Amino acid sequence: MSEPERLRVCALYPDLMNIYADRGNLLMLRHRCQWRGMGFELTGAGIGEPIDADGADIYYMGGGQDRDQELCAADLVAHKLEALRSAAARGAIVLGVCGGYQLLGHDYQLGGRVLPGIGLLDVRTVRSEGARLTGNVAIEVDLPHAHERVLAGFENHGGRTQLGERASPLGRVLRGHGNNGSDGYEGARQGTVIGTYLHGPLLPKNSWFADWLISSALGGLALDPLDDELEEMAHAAARVAAGL
Ligand code: GLN
Repeated sequence: MSEPERLRVCALYPDLMNIYADRGNLLMLRHRCQWRGMGFELTGAGIGEPIDADGADIYYMGGGQDRDQELCAADLVAHKLEALRSAAARGAIVLGVCGGYQLLGHDYQLGGRVLPGIGLLDVRTVRSEGARLTGNVAIEVDLPHAHERVLAGFENHGGRTQLGERASPLGRVLRGHGNNGSDGYEGARQGTVIGTYLHGPLLPKNSWFADWLISSALGGLALDPLDDELEEMAHAAARVAAGL
């Protein structure tokens, strides 16, 4: 008998980068794998801890306050940059939510300081003196092999993100502010590296996207369907909350 499929997830700074219960995204990945009889392995890497470039199929970093991001920014560059670069180059998924998204870019400027990012996404973020971009949000995405197109969630960020030429937007804003409140786009995608401002947490409100990530991270693995009645209600409620 062949080994059951197994998803390996590495959570970056699970304690510091976990605003709005973004850790719920990890629970969602775990349960959707386990409900299908697949294995699930979670490792975490905090400040000062190196990561294994071959040790995970998905590397995940949630959102954080500016001060927590500051602690993580220098550490990411010092201890995790090379491994994350080679993981992305071999096709592992690297997913950043909000503060995590900002740190996947080149840098995050706030006040007179510039926090370094790791440049896996060709994006730059500048902290605005203006109002925070807050509220329910829905975006339309166009992902390869995905059978759905809408992601719904919640955003709350002071940073404004601009995409460079090498990054594509993750989606088009249907409701809400998105990357910067002005260009109509949300998030970024560059190969298998994905950033988004959507909390919710993101995956419990968008179970189809959790499955897309699992399948993509495992080389396009076909996933057994699940009874998603509750998940679909959560998704529908998030869409309604955003005004769709
Ligand atoms: N601190 C960042 C900002 O305000 C990210 C916030 C977040 O993760 N929600 O832009």
